[in-house]
Amino acid sequence: MPSPENPKIPSQNEAAFPPPLAKELAPRLLSWYRDNARALPWRESTDPYRVWVSEIMLQQTTVEVVRPYYARFLKAFPTVESLAAAEESAVLKLWEGLGYYTRARNMLRAAQVISEKHSGRFPETYEEIRALPGIGDYTAGAIASICFNLPRAAVDGNVLRVFSRLLAQNYLSAAEKRRLAAQISAIYPQDACGDFTQSLMELGALVCTPSSPKCGLCPVRWLCRAFLEGCVNEYPARKGAAAKREEALTVLILTREEDIALRRRAPQGLLGGLWELPNRAGHLIEPEAVAFTESLGARPAELLKSGRASHVFSHVRWDILWYHIACADTEDAPLEGGALWVSPKARREGHSLPSAFTKLLKQAGIPS
Ligand code: SF4
Repeated sequence: MPSPENPKIPSQNEAAFPPPLAKELAPRLLSWYRDNARALPWRESTDPYRVWVSEIMLQQTTVEVVRPYYARFLKAFPTVESLAAAEESAVLKLWEGLGYYTRARNMLRAAQVISEKHSGRFPETYEEIRALPGIGDYTAGAIASICFNLPRAAVDGNVLRVFSRLLAQNYLSAAEKRRLAAQISAIYPQDACGDFTQSLMELGALVCTPSSPKCGLCPVRWLCRAFLEGCVNEYPARKGAAAKREEALTVLILTREEDIALRRRAPQGLLGGLWELPNRAGHLIEPEAVAFTESLGARPAELLKSGRASHVFSHVRWDILWYHIACADTEDAPLEGGALWVSPKARREGHSLPSAFTKLLKQAGIPS
């Protein structure tokens, strides 16, 4: 019995794709891809470790953002074994600014599993890859096809959009998406699985874009039902964006000469375990912010600046009111509640402050 995460690959007969699409899509796309593929650093090799790092980093962000992160990460951790032996703080430091830090923690855990369970060798079957921490159907399909030439589709938002238009059909439920992944897997060309995966991704990124797709340049437009029926803009159907929860927050930027007060967040939940500027729910007026400062064991000397900012996470939007308060020397009295005075050097070397907070330091004119 196939599990929901691991649908069986249907035979050609079971695939619901119309025959011209099933037969023609791969050869046309492969030919286009070989002439038009962008030269990207992670395409220089099919080393599964490198492909894995790039696929995880590319989730939720763009190629241009990822380029320098990818280079720095591989310089620091050139192999899966070197990542497995890394300190979590060093991994998070290299991830600083990319967001979604759970991905970095899962990569570290997965590297440790590969080191311990697979003797440091990246697993080569879809099922073993899929079983690693932080690897879902999409990433497992990408690694299996690109690195091991296995016919496993990698269906992310880009690929879903392409097929939604090719077939003029919406894939809204998880079951429909799994069925689509199995149907795509069934038309994989045996000798070019990796290139087929990448050609679909490339078509979605360069041609079949979310808005204003370049159908006139599309190598598969004569196979595309939405193009032929003149209804490209109707696919994929837009689901009502889930409303984000609003949270009001007061953040203190407490400085003592060049030091800044930081503390650890709780290990679970949003930005779990990362460093943060002291903060409290709600918007505090100035005397309340001063009292909050005192409650941390700091001695507020002067309110230097205050401002407003917002930060958007996947389900929450922080509406931030911040105060920059210069504090008098408290060397003899440590801060309360796990807060510490952290020097610029220590901040550079190991205290990963998420961008939700570094942006406030920037507004206040303080180097993060
Ligand atoms: S013809 Fe247009 S809508 Fe269809 S796959 Fe190509 S770019 Fe996308």
